[in-house]
Amino acid sequence: MKIIYHKDYVNYAGYRNDPAASSGRIIPIIKEIKEKTDYEIITPEPASEADILRAHTERHVKDIKTDKNLYYIASLAAGGAIKTAEIAYDNEEAAFGVIRPPGHHASTDSCWGFCFFNNMRIALLSLMAENKIESAFILDFDLHTGDGNISIIGQNSKVQILNPRSSGRVNYIKEVEEAFESLSNIDIIAASAGFDEYELDWGGKLSTDDYNTLGQLMKEYSLKLCKGRRFAILEGGYYYEHLGINVVSFCQGLE
Ligand SMILES: [Zn+2]
Repeated sequence: MKIIYHKDYVNYAGYRNDPAASSGRIIPIIKEIKEKTDYEIITPEPASEADILRAHTERHVKDIKTDKNLYYIASLAAGGAIKTAEIAYDNEEAAFGVIRPPGHHASTDSCWGFCFFNNMRIALLSLMAENKIESAFILDFDLHTGDGNISIIGQNSKVQILNPRSSGRVNYIKEVEEAFESLSNIDIIAASAGFDEYELDWGGKLSTDDYNTLGQLMKEYSLKLCKGRRFAILEGGYYYEHLGINVVSFCQGLE
């Protein structure tokens, strides 16, 4: 199990005045990982403009570039996602990207909801450009619908996305299980890992153990379907006090 993380995800806290950018969000995650696991931590590089342009229009990239700090940190998040996906594919093992800003509300030519570049889309397109994968399954377990993921990744019929909507934690897990059970011919399993469905966060639904179950399901079906190639990248999650615990619980299921 590898963790992809760059210290600038913390140093550049405040690149925007939004909850995803606030200082104190990434720190508890890394602290918990360092204290509770022996996962190797890998430092990524920023994505190149060519990587980003696979997923976004020149106009959108130019727009983000008008804020130099924002462009740097958004490119570094995209680069972190690429690195996470590469490790999962090449090593046939689990990888988690502790990156920010998040990306699942970023569409081809626009963005909102604390997102700037679509990290997931950029990572998958990078693997596709290297002819490593043709298909993917994305489990987006963030509280919010990943409209950016759906609008730009969903155009590819070989990429399936599930953003579970069931009410209640039992039905929620069941919905995820059924989606995995229906899969075939998948080259990699990925998660847009938001932790804001947590019972004490905005969504008020999932327990710490449920995040472990989601990780386990990804592991089980990736071993069945795609040589264990599985990764997740951080999206939302705003109950800082338990954010680290929930991320580690998920990683322990995924590992
Ligand atoms: Zn969210």
